[in-house]
Amino acid sequence: GRLLAVTGSASGIGATTAAMLRARGDRVIGVDLRDAEVCADLSTADGRAEAVAGIAALAGADGADGPAGPEGGALDGLITCAGLSRAGAPQVSVNYFGTVDLVLGLRPLLAAAPAPRVALVSSISSTQPSDPAIVAACLAGDESAALDAAEAAVAAGRPHEIYSSTKLALNRWLRGAAVSADFAGAGIAVNAIAPGVVLTPMTAELVANPDWKRVMDAAVPMPLNGYAPPEAIAHALLWLVAAENSHMAGQVVFVDGGAAALTAAG
Ligand code: NAD
Repeated sequence: GRLLAVTGSASGIGATTAAMLRARGDRVIGVDLRDAEVCADLSTADGRAEAVAGIAALAGADGADGPAGPEGGALDGLITCAGLSRAGAPQVSVNYFGTVDLVLGLRPLLAAAPAPRVALVSSISSTQPSDPAIVAACLAGDESAALDAAEAAVAAGRPHEIYSSTKLALNRWLRGAAVSADFAGAGIAVNAIAPGVVLTPMTAELVANPDWKRVMDAAVPMPLNGYAPPEAIAHALLWLVAAENSHMAGQVVFVDGGAAALTAAG
């Protein structure tokens, strides 16, 4: 079995993914606010550092800052499911910085594994209207500017653009990082799954409210089999982090029932 870290492991897609990995004999280090091997708040820089240190300790690294390697521990894969969809500006901190900082912080442990893989969770929302100021601040690594831009989007009556902006920024970051010397050059495959609507606690209220459901169905039409169970996303994530995935880099794969094919321009 392989050793994988899964963020957002306490609920929804992350919980399903962790359970499927364990069922096939892999070891999972779950990361979440609670009910996880490593409990940490990914909305803060300190919490992200705690998460990296906690994973490193469980992966057998001597010290949180110590060199990874044969004697310093190794991590075969990272799957980042932690995310927020309706919490205003903090979405920037969890969805974008809580993902990117973990990938960067765990890079040495990943590089020490024989077939390391990273799978991010983006969203069909990354194809929907977004806020260029939030996206730019994220890509510049400027969390306080990104939070300011997100507050401005709320004040301007465009709070929904925060979520789509965090996911678009992730897609763009991943394109560059995946092919860099640090990742592709170190044998670390980095890709993402972009789900459509998935039936988890995140969407339970939306799906249950006929008015919200109508808006969502118009924005995210899913002709192939409708709303996805979390297993449909988890299976794709499992393949992205498998050793067999030796040559995919920088891809955002839409597992969305056909929504992107129906709605995306071009
Ligand atoms: P969920 O709410 O069921 O699970 C998200 C998990 O992230 C929770 O366990 C939560 O505690 C954790 N989390 C939130 N803030 C955190 C923080 N500050 N620190 C640590 N953990 C934190 O949602 P889900 O539907 O399973 O979503 C998983 C991922 O899939 C998210 O990135 C989401 O944006 C993405 N996604 C979901 C859908 C959908 O329709 N459900 C669609 C597209 C993308």
